[in-house]
Amino acid sequence: MRRPLVAGNWKMHGTRASVAELIAGLRTQTLPEDVTVVVMPAFVHLMSVADQLGASSMNLGAQDCATEPMPCALTGEVAASQLTDLGCRYVLVGHSERRLLLGEGDALIVRKFSAAQAVGLTPVLCVGETREQREAGQTLPVVLAQLDALIDTLGVAVLNRAVLAYEPVWAIGTGLTATPEQAQEVHAAIRQHIAMRDAAVAAGVQILYGGSVKASTAGELFGMPDIDGGLVGGASLNADEFGAICRAAGRVKNA
Ligand code: PEP
Repeated sequence: MRRPLVAGNWKMHGTRASVAELIAGLRTQTLPEDVTVVVMPAFVHLMSVADQLGASSMNLGAQDCATEPMPCALTGEVAASQLTDLGCRYVLVGHSERRLLLGEGDALIVRKFSAAQAVGLTPVLCVGETREQREAGQTLPVVLAQLDALIDTLGVAVLNRAVLAYEPVWAIGTGLTATPEQAQEVHAAIRQHIAMRDAAVAAGVQILYGGSVKASTAGELFGMPDIDGGLVGGASLNADEFGAICRAAGRVKNA
């Protein structure tokens, strides 16, 4: 039985004041014990969020890391070990905004994934197709190629210590959510693809859905057999909404 996980990607949002307010709001939420909850603030807020989380059950994650695991001369970057030093347990790699707006390619993303694991961080590898790719019938070839770039380089066993997130680019920040059936189809294909290499790894890996998840859509999405939780952007900036999404993950998988 895979444990559900819900991660809030705060992207490049937040001031010290608004972040403190958000954490205070989150700390009033009843969060399900059987769901791993992660908040992913911008780098500049990681330390204060770590302090403010205190003894909360919420985990800390970052949105990116350098290709090098340890501190070195790499101006402007943040080493994975610096993230663990701040208390991070998770890190996003390959978010579509970084792939498409900043030109990150598969080879670079694989290096970041490897750097994260080298210091004990759990990488959350994001994969997903654009609207044009979906309309051209290329969803699975695109998503599986992004996954294969990792597996072919590092081997399938690395997925024992990682999380995957299927995030159709056309659904991110657009208010357009994939239907539960559309998402399930891709999640199942990802799991089957991994199973061709190693059935036990495929059965154990958590695959999150991301793309305009809201409290009103979370229950149905998380009820799908191969959807193990969510990567939530916009809705994670609202404590009540995010709390409700986390509770939906617990309730559904417990049912
Ligand atoms: C994301 O940034 O990973 C995301 C899914 O954003 P949103 O929920 O706003 O679509």
